Amino acid sequence: MIQTAPDLINLAYFISALLFITGLRKMSSPKTARSGIWLAGGGMIIAVVATFLHPQVVSNHLLILIAIAIGGGFAFFQARSVAISNMPEMTAIYNGLGGAAAAGIAIIVLLRVSEHTVSAKAVAVLGGMIGSITFAGSIMAWAKLKRIIAKRHQFVNRQVLYVALGSVVLMLGLLLATSTSSHPMLLLVFFVLSLVFGVIMTLPIAAADLPVLISIYNAMTGLAVAFEGYVLANPAMIVAGMLVCAAGVLLTRLMANAVNRSLSEIMYSGFGISHSGIAEPNTRNSINEIDPFDSATSMAYAERVVIVPGYGMASAQAQHKVQELTQLLEERGVGVRFAIHPVAGRMPGHMNVVLAEAGVPYEKIADLSEINPEFSKVDVVLVIGANDIVNLGARTDTNSPLHGMPVLDVDNAGSVIVLKRGDGAGYAGVDNPLLQHPKTRVLLGDAKRSVQDLITAIKSLD
Ligand code: NDP
Repeated sequence: MIQTAPDLINLAYFISALLFITGLRKMSSPKTARSGIWLAGGGMIIAVVATFLHPQVVSNHLLILIAIAIGGGFAFFQARSVAISNMPEMTAIYNGLGGAAAAGIAIIVLLRVSEHTVSAKAVAVLGGMIGSITFAGSIMAWAKLKRIIAKRHQFVNRQVLYVALGSVVLMLGLLLATSTSSHPMLLLVFFVLSLVFGVIMTLPIAAADLPVLISIYNAMTGLAVAFEGYVLANPAMIVAGMLVCAAGVLLTRLMANAVNRSLSEIMYSGFGISHSGIAEPNTRNSINEIDPFDSATSMAYAERVVIVPGYGMASAQAQHKVQELTQLLEERGVGVRFAIHPVAGRMPGHMNVVLAEAGVPYEKIADLSEINPEFSKVDVVLVIGANDIVNLGARTDTNSPLHGMPVLDVDNAGSVIVLKRGDGAGYAGVDNPLLQHPKTRVLLGDAKRSVQDLITAIKSLD
């Protein structure tokens, strides 16, 4: 039994890895994503149980169980009760905790230097550094999503600061990896400076660049976990970490392409910031208002309607009403599609998740490159709680932090109806010329309430 245990544990890790890979594959389509999550979750349970039963885990079983119960229990109840509108912030925090867990393993390894080879310690140092940067950076990203930190903080000579601080952290890491005795003070300074690096790496990032940085942190968490998996000789951690890393790298490329930025522009040059600073919003300029009845009439008698959902739709939890409105319009013979911008909302895929939750068929959803050439054939565009992704200033205003980001060309449609509550600007905090465009009318009010009013008005047309 004692001899077969390692084989059984390796078999369990192999099964977990298969489940992670199959689960991830299934997550690539909304139709199979739910079963993919179950498979990957099952793989994780198997990996945790196998690690718990590992012959090298000889003590502290009770402490491990208490930790699992506290952490797992908290996450279970929080995930069940979190409002879908708070999902992006929760994702940012949990991503950061993955980095913190990797850093925690590195601390233990580097405190027990005599038990590990230099190469294992070097990998632990790298994993610890990346994990700490990710942890601090994700907490900052969370604060930015929550608008606890609303301003973009710029540093003079940002590149120099990164190189200087990065060099100091790497030097300390080298000392730690090659040392034959533990140095708790050095270790403390190493981790504090890594955390500071994560903070200063995130502070200057804002607007359309933030989603790209969140994707980078996602990839970095995977890498840190894979490194620590190597140190612990845990194949399940290595596979899971590399899968997260690879998926994060692909997502980062997609997001960077979507906002038309290169990674170096995002990380080093402060691209999107004019020399005169970020333009202040001036949304009190005159807007043309419209009432629910006129909005409903123009949609009900249109041939083609495109709905553009944004953060405000998710925040108002209007997605179910929007699906009801879609069905109502389709019953009248109106063709309805949804246009999703890659950075709409507050997390990658945010709008897809919210619309899938409301039962909007995937075939109705078009991405930016697919829908932009089609807008000239659309009669009415209904923009629901979106601003930056339809900000016309992104095309022409070189002072805008959104300048250069491709937006949805809704102004090419016959008319545009924007649902918003008042004069709030979008996440980037800048004026949107679309609101003053001659084709645009604004229906003021909470998105859920306004969509309900549209439904009532369309029903009254019969
Ligand atoms: P925006 O934040 O640009 O605009 C949201 C709009 O919704 C505002 O104009 C606001 O106006 C309105 N709104 C808010 N609440 C309501 C409500 N209850 N009812 C009706 N309207 C409402 O969202 P977008 O989706 O257009 O753009 C996303 C932005 O977030 C981009 O800048 C992107 O870079 C950034 N971001 C995206 C991430 C991602 O991964 N997707 C991650 C981090 C940032 P008002 O207050 O007047 O109602």
